[in-house]
Amino acid sequence: MRIGDWDVHAVISGMFRLDGGAMFGVVPRSLWSKAAPPDAENRISMAMRVLVGRGGGRTVLVDTGAGTGYGEKLEAIYAFENTMAPSAYLRDLGIAPEQVTDVILTHLHFDHAAGAAVPQPGGGWALAFPNAAHHVQKTQWEHALDPNPRDRASYFRDRIEILAKKGALSLHEGDWSLASGLDVLAFGGHTPGQHLPLFSGGGESVLFCADLVPTSAHFPAPYIMAYDLDPVRSMDEKAGILGDASRGNWILSFEHDPATPACRVRSEDRRYLPGERVTL
Ligand SMILES: [Zn+2]
Repeated sequence: MRIGDWDVHAVISGMFRLDGGAMFGVVPRSLWSKAAPPDAENRISMAMRVLVGRGGGRTVLVDTGAGTGYGEKLEAIYAFENTMAPSAYLRDLGIAPEQVTDVILTHLHFDHAAGAAVPQPGGGWALAFPNAAHHVQKTQWEHALDPNPRDRASYFRDRIEILAKKGALSLHEGDWSLASGLDVLAFGGHTPGQHLPLFSGGGESVLFCADLVPTSAHFPAPYIMAYDLDPVRSMDEKAGILGDASRGNWILSFEHDPATPACRVRSEDRRYLPGERVTL
């Protein structure tokens, strides 16, 4: 899809499963299970969608998926399915990993950022995008290296540290702008320093929602993940974005929605609902 100076595409890097209860927080299973039917272990199927933007001489990738190289135990826990190396999921767009100039990592949880590292045959890791600057919020970087027991399982340290070791890390504080028509907005409810890219131009805007609005089933105010460290802040941040999107006719793109890559937002009786479905 053309957004001003940018060509924007969404690609699924693989599928995985997480506990359905954890994905919907305080919402009872009798309600969320209608939108996301759970398996025998109460897990729901989720996409690891990434966004690719090309414009002004840059090739920008937003998040990387979980990547490959997980052992049997993690494969079983997360039921990874069709997880691809970046070279595979970018091939359909005619992009080689070496051509990626910028990787915006919304945050460093493994399902968003672990694909930035590629396992090497003799052990150790290499960068999946050797020529790219990897953009991360400073607060998220510091948190990822010193997580608390509640979110420690979401970070794989060896896949993160390589970004600094290879000098590929670009740290940011708060909202920032990567290029004309590509602003990056900072949030803090899900985890310290989650930042989300907003492509805009030609009367259109696309926000990649990552874990602020993980799927189109997460529009109602209390539908907040139990993974969030500050759920009330998440609720307020989500309401703010849904309001902006509704007023500005933005397109919201969902990283984890298995069926809906993106949609617009409509409001009805002071509630926000998924509007027109959009394919990016
Ligand atoms: Zn996350």
